[in-house]
Amino acid sequence: MLLGRNVGIAVAMLDYLSNITNRMESATLISEAHIEEIVGLSLRDGLTGLFNHTYFYQQIDLEVRRFRRYDTPVSLALIDIDDFKEVNDTHGHREGDRILAAMGRTLLSLARDSDICCRYGGEEFAVIFPLTNIRESVEIANRMRMEMAVSLPGGRVVTVSIGVATCGRSIETFQDLVVKADAALYQAKRNGKNQVGDVSEGNERDM
Ligand code: GH3
Ligand code: MG
Ligand code: MG
Repeated sequence: MLLGRNVGIAVAMLDYLSNITNRMESATLISEAHIEEIVGLSLRDGLTGLFNHTYFYQQIDLEVRRFRRYDTPVSLALIDIDDFKEVNDTHGHREGDRILAAMGRTLLSLARDSDICCRYGGEEFAVIFPLTNIRESVEIANRMRMEMAVSLPGGRVVTVSIGVATCGRSIETFQDLVVKADAALYQAKRNGKNQVGDVSEGNERDM
């Protein structure tokens, strides 16, 4: 059909792909904003709205590589809810989900613009602190720990334990940093929970 006007490059391209070359059966147009929205959603966790572990691994890898190359500091906090199984067993899984979402919101409200807040696993969060040394990140982690506590009807308080680690001489890959933060988290759990543990360069031989 003769339209009698210029249809533009987009329509011409669709026509070329679908009708002339038969390369695409159902070629379609998607706006750039829509693509950004889809990509954004694929990097987020549905329950908390925080970044998911795919994004976490991308970013921690990037930050540790940056540290290795330019010696720019980066720290990592791993956060694990204390006795969460018991909370679920007593108050139900839905209440557990509500607590997870509330803790995620608190985390976001306390993080600085450059901090990267992620849901790392079921009841675990991870926060990447770019350009932040161990002292500063322990301070922020402690603030997070205090604010994330959730009081339940009946008086019970659900708390978190946090392990903080920073890049130093012993860190070659992001996995090394995750292992170090995990050791610090284990230390916090072993020492009684509801606290921040850190494994600094000085005492990492104890790991
Ligand atoms: P600890 O203080 O040593 O961390 O004890 P814990 O009970 O938190 O640890 P454990 O690993 O034994 O249990 C973790 C629990 O977290 C078990 C699981 O039911 C709960 N959990 C994991 N993901 C979710 C989730 O998405 N929603 C809810 N409601 N619970 C979850
Ligand atoms: Mg856990
Ligand atoms: Mg736990």
